[in-house]
Amino acid sequence: MHATKTLAEADRLMTVCNSCRYCEGLCAVFPAMEMRRSFSDGDLAYLANLCHNCGACYYDCQFSPPHEFNVNVPAVLAKTQHQSYAHYAWPSAFAGVFARNGLFIALATALSVAAFLAGFVAWHDPATLFGTHVGPGAFYRLLPHNMMVLLFGGAFLYAIVAIGFGIRSFWRDIGEPTATLRDPTAIGSAIRDAARLRYLDGGGAGCMNENAKPTDTRRIYHHLTFYGFLLCFASTSTATLYHYLLGLQAPYSWWDLPVLLGTVGGIGLVIGPIGLLAAKWRRDPAVLDETRYGMDVAFILMLLLTSFTGLALLALRATPAMGILLALHLGVVFALFITMPYGKFVHGIYRFAALVRYAKEHRALGTAASGPPN
Ligand code: SF4
Ligand code: SF4
Repeated sequence: MHATKTLAEADRLMTVCNSCRYCEGLCAVFPAMEMRRSFSDGDLAYLANLCHNCGACYYDCQFSPPHEFNVNVPAVLAKTQHQSYAHYAWPSAFAGVFARNGLFIALATALSVAAFLAGFVAWHDPATLFGTHVGPGAFYRLLPHNMMVLLFGGAFLYAIVAIGFGIRSFWRDIGEPTATLRDPTAIGSAIRDAARLRYLDGGGAGCMNENAKPTDTRRIYHHLTFYGFLLCFASTSTATLYHYLLGLQAPYSWWDLPVLLGTVGGIGLVIGPIGLLAAKWRRDPAVLDETRYGMDVAFILMLLLTSFTGLALLALRATPAMGILLALHLGVVFALFITMPYGKFVHGIYRFAALVRYAKEHRALGTAASGPPN
């Protein structure tokens, strides 16, 4: 017995696929499936989080609709994956936000931006808010550095703790010992697979679109988004080092490392999400889970808002628009942090954990196949 109808359907499909095995070269899902004869809810959550929704197995399948077997692995695993985010959410009271995720993210962002704008208007007279602030510490004349650290450090810490509890439940459910998370070979392999999105290539042809023509565009835009996000994170981290280790206060000159990293990352985080949105419209609805559309789009738009407001702040920081732009950017980033455990952001964390497990299983299988050393 499975906890939901979606899990029962995923079990049925994995049982059919396990007899067929035609798709075993396409991605990690099928080899991981072949290591099992039955599928617990945890196994199905693990397989679902290995799936990159490239769609290849739907088009390759001789049993996909209108065949009576009705095999649609991408759509059912996408649904299973979506449900797993809610199932492992911490605290569990927030599980429901995955059902109306687009609305939740939009409200959280609107409230956060409104709170920062209201705070700036309430705490500053118009001359300060709309004044021109330049030189070291210009931003902190509108929001003191200690307050910024308290607000954003607290929100980020909360996100890490909430995601950590979610991963702990997932890890327990899939029956994996915590020692695997310290296995350097498995982690190294998972990092390599995640860094190049190895399993989004549909077995080499690319990601499938509405016209059943595979392309690599989704992978390229995902790379721009992911590495753009990492560069922006690196920019914030180096700015923190500049502040505490070198005693240099923001805003920095355009040639300083935090600005260079933030600019390149911000541009990637504009082009990538726009490309992902465009690629989304070209996907075949048959391979998608329509219930997660709001979640997917809300996350992409949230990343886009973060980069747009950040780049606008960089461009206009020495003008009277800086105060309002700073409030807007901080409001968006704060919303991004606090909603991280309850939106599409978690897909990267669960997928990485699944890839770590897959690397360990795959290695164990290789060892068993080659037999013990003489
Ligand atoms: S998706 Fe279809 S073709 Fe591929 S393994 Fe499953 S049943 Fe076979
Ligand atoms: S949609 Fe792509 S990644 Fe997912 S199971 Fe099918 S082939 Fe694998």
